[in-house]
Amino acid sequence: MSEPIFRSDVTVELVRAAAQDSDVLFAARVSTQGEQSLEGADHEAGARDKGLINYLMRDRHGSPFEHNSMTFYVQAPIFVFREFMRHRIASYNEESGRYRELRPVFYVPNEDRNLVQIGKTGHYEFIPGTPEQYELVDREVRQSCTQAYESYQRMLEAGVAREVARTVLPVTIYSSMYVTMNARALMNFLSLRTMREGTHFPSFPQREIEMVAEKMEQFWVDLMPMTAEAFNANGRVAP
Ligand SMILES: Cc1cc2nc3c(=O)[nH]c(=O)nc-3n(C[C@H](O)[C@H](O)[C@H](O)COP(=O)(O)OP(=O)(O)OC[C@H]3O[C@@H](n4cnc5c(N)ncnc54)[C@H](O)[C@@H]3O)c2cc1C
Repeated sequence: MSEPIFRSDVTVELVRAAAQDSDVLFAARVSTQGEQSLEGADHEAGARDKGLINYLMRDRHGSPFEHNSMTFYVQAPIFVFREFMRHRIASYNEESGRYRELRPVFYVPNEDRNLVQIGKTGHYEFIPGTPEQYELVDREVRQSCTQAYESYQRMLEAGVAREVARTVLPVTIYSSMYVTMNARALMNFLSLRTMREGTHFPSFPQREIEMVAEKMEQFWVDLMPMTAEAFNANGRVAP
């Protein structure tokens, strides 16, 4: 049996993108310029366009932020994918536990991950654990994942179908997927799955999906810096 691999991080790669600030502009300008807006379709956004993007964001004119596309490749534990896929305004393709043997790669929280929850429902804060708690979490996760994967392998070796044998695998096992989103859907995702100072509507996401969201946001900021700036300046509310 291959040895289990334990990770405490997530992978996000930008696979392809057709997304830039100027995509917002021509879409918005058809409203007042009709066919003349076509002339601006290839023009790069400049400083004078900042005001229009900010206005659209502030007044929540959302549809001009939809004329773009970003495809990300993500590796994360299945419990993250379960939360991620609640975001319906996106397209997904995920590896299959029916069509391939799942690899023994598991998530284990490391010491960067706060362990103890305090506060009331919906408004939790998380603080670091004691060294004993970190040791316990690490040991229990490793033991239970190793045992589960050994059961999985024994069933596969006995001829049991992958879709049945996977019954024993925990949600901490990694999966992989492609997700394609436009900037409007991404802003909705970021507003809910990141926790930042100065947001109009603070959210309290699970840390592991926030790790994915932070990496996605970094790619997006590079692609659409003016849009990202307006998003932040207006309290990270999805338009
Ligand atoms: C901190 C946190 C805790 C959560 N806890 C739970 C929980 O305990 N249980 C649980 O079940 N879920 C939970 N969720 C998931 C949450 O309820 C949403 O399903 C998820 O955040 C996706 O958001 P969304 O619907 O805005 O995204 P998307 O599905 O991407 O939708 C984007 C936007 O499109 C519009 N839209 C999409 N579909 C419809 C529709 N059918 N009708 C009308 N408008 C639509 C809405 O304006 C929506 O905001 C939690 C989410 C967060 C961030």
